[in-house]
Amino acid sequence: MQTIESKEKLRHLLSEARRSGKTIGFVPTMGFLHEGHLSLMRRARRETDLVVVSIFVNPTQFGPNEDLDAYPRDIDRDTELMIKEKVDLAYMPNVEQLYPEGYTTYVEVTGPMTQALCGKSRPVHFRGVTTIVSKLFHLVAPHKAYFGQKDAQQVAVIKRMARDLDFDIDIVACPTVREPDGLAMSSRNAYLSTDHRRDAVVISKALFEARNMIEKGERQTGTVIRHIAGRIEAIPDATIDYVAVVDADTLADIETLQRDILIAVAVKLGGTRLIDNIQMTTP
Ligand code: AMP
Repeated sequence: MQTIESKEKLRHLLSEARRSGKTIGFVPTMGFLHEGHLSLMRRARRETDLVVVSIFVNPTQFGPNEDLDAYPRDIDRDTELMIKEKVDLAYMPNVEQLYPEGYTTYVEVTGPMTQALCGKSRPVHFRGVTTIVSKLFHLVAPHKAYFGQKDAQQVAVIKRMARDLDFDIDIVACPTVREPDGLAMSSRNAYLSTDHRRDAVVISKALFEARNMIEKGERQTGTVIRHIAGRIEAIPDATIDYVAVVDADTLADIETLQRDILIAVAVKLGGTRLIDNIQMTTP
């Protein structure tokens, strides 16, 4: 595996690979890698010839009172894990590389898709995500890019951006990888105290229960939301940011369940913001 910090070097290596006919698979991350990230790398390894992973804690997607400075980092461990997964290129730029002095250009998906769900409490988040992902898409120019369904709104927004801006890149959404007890893996799980880690299991349990209710015939969004909210409200120290049932593609609110739906939650547990979701087709 080659570790690269400069965009010029990255571009040079990738244009050579492209000239020799290799397909390029790309996995953008913020590092502190776990099995969720590794599952994307494995899929890219299976489906493409040259696997590029970026590790960059992107400042523009963090709000002023969020955890940018505290975000967990461990480059040595990440490097070992990427080598094990047979990643070809690890791109680890610094902030000045990607946002040099005078930087003022942003890419924004407008409208309800970025204002709903996480967009309500994180108003600059998706603008930061689409800006950095566009920059990385231009630099890497992959054939396929891999994202986790764990961040369902992010995947929907990136698919929208890729269509709208004619990125000729196949956006591949991969299933959420969970801990044995059901908690969705996240770099932020490292912030949880022992008690909060134990209680966090209720979030995925509530989502699975909601799925069961729908499979058994429940069709009213309100009933499903009330069930999930009730379960989460019973966790000590938990504050609900949102519990929502929306159309899986447009993320628009729906009253009656039909077709492909996304059941999504965001919860603050202690100081840690956790998100999780389930996508399903209404039977
Ligand atoms: P992050 O480092 O949190 O920005 O995540 C980088 C990529 O890994 C994103 O596409 C995430 O959706 C994906 N990812 C994070 N956690 C998981 C998980 N538990 N299962 C699958 N993919 C994940």
